[in-house]
Amino acid sequence: MKKVIIIEDYCIACYNCEVACVATHSRSQDPVKSYKREGLRGKTNAVVEVESPLAFSSMCRHCKHPWCMDACISGAIQRLDNGIVYLDEERCVGCWGCVVGCPYGAAHPNLAGKDKHAFKCDLCIKRLDAGLNPACVEACPNNALLYDETIEEREEVHK
Ligand code: SF4
Ligand code: SF4
Repeated sequence: MKKVIIIEDYCIACYNCEVACVATHSRSQDPVKSYKREGLRGKTNAVVEVESPLAFSSMCRHCKHPWCMDACISGAIQRLDNGIVYLDEERCVGCWGCVVGCPYGAAHPNLAGKDKHAFKCDLCIKRLDAGLNPACVEACPNNALLYDETIEEREEVHK
């Protein structure tokens, strides 16, 4: 399965990936409108962590063993046929089990507005269906994010 691969050495902490993620998951699909009118600032699945001189964009690994799915009490988190660990926000009851259960901090509580639900990376499933790369990968100006198979998975295929 292809995933977003993070190359820390190339990340310049420009935050473009965060903005692209928010815009792609917004109604307007527009970065300015999603922040200013839809109030989605911070509702990003790609979170840039900076520990100078290093920076990297952390996000869901779509784990082989998804701890978030184990922790979910409502069945809101499922693995899709294409391998994506998908969180259905409509089915989420906001227990935060996935938020606590994910060892990478990749499941987030939505604390803004009246909707209480968790959210996480869906690998931009609609973009993938349209033959496009995830939005964060496209937005990165320094190729610090790649959409590809991990080395471990490639080695497993060739064993
Ligand atoms: S949210 Fe966390 S536990 Fe769940 S698949 Fe993503 S990285 Fe794994
Ligand atoms: S917060 Fe929602 S998605 Fe997360 S474990 Fe609870 S019900 Fe499932």
